[in-house]
Amino acid sequence: MEFAVPLPQIPTVPVIGGAAFPVRRIFCVGRNYAAHAREMGHDPDREPPFFFTKPADAILLTGNPMPYPPKTADLHHEIELVVAIGTEGADIPVEAAQSHVYGYAVGLDMTRRDLQGEAKKLGRPWDMGKGFDFSAPIAPIHRASETGPIDRGAIWLDVGGKRRQTGDISDLIWSVPETIAYLSGLVTLMPGDLIYSGTPDGVAAVVRGDTLHGHVDGLTDLEVTIR
Ligand code: MN
Repeated sequence: MEFAVPLPQIPTVPVIGGAAFPVRRIFCVGRNYAAHAREMGHDPDREPPFFFTKPADAILLTGNPMPYPPKTADLHHEIELVVAIGTEGADIPVEAAQSHVYGYAVGLDMTRRDLQGEAKKLGRPWDMGKGFDFSAPIAPIHRASETGPIDRGAIWLDVGGKRRQTGDISDLIWSVPETIAYLSGLVTLMPGDLIYSGTPDGVAAVVRGDTLHGHVDGLTDLEVTIR
């Protein structure tokens, strides 16, 4: 077949000891750690989880520089556990959710906080605050068959060698299986989907030249420098 424009390349993420993982969609969970919900001015009572998305090609692989994005003066870091979906499913029960997990990675939900804040105030979509180019840095994926379910363990982010964010995966308001169950009631999850599961407190701004070093116990660290 002849295509009207060049065929888009499918973004991929390396898998430790395996083939590349093709990225289909990127879903993100908002306010999934109580302390972060509080720092953003919200009551972290278990309101249902809510989601937003980034384009698949917002992926930026660890080790590559991140260009400081346009139209912001307040670029924030959000360190997150990323879940890679391996098998299709709709209305997945919590007890079956783990079987849909292909693997896990360390990721950053980079955010133009000033644009997001303005959108919130005006009741407008968050897309331009969240889904911009290179807004989804990610480290290699570890297969769940090797890590087992990740439901606890330290998550932290250093900027320029200083600890900025720290938390524990067990502090997720909505666990990974609960998040998969809920999200799969809204859309059919497909192989290649990534879920950024939310960030602990300590989100703050970065500037050009900053090096971000992210960690989740048991996974390969993420490192990104802002250019
Ligand atoms: Mn986030």
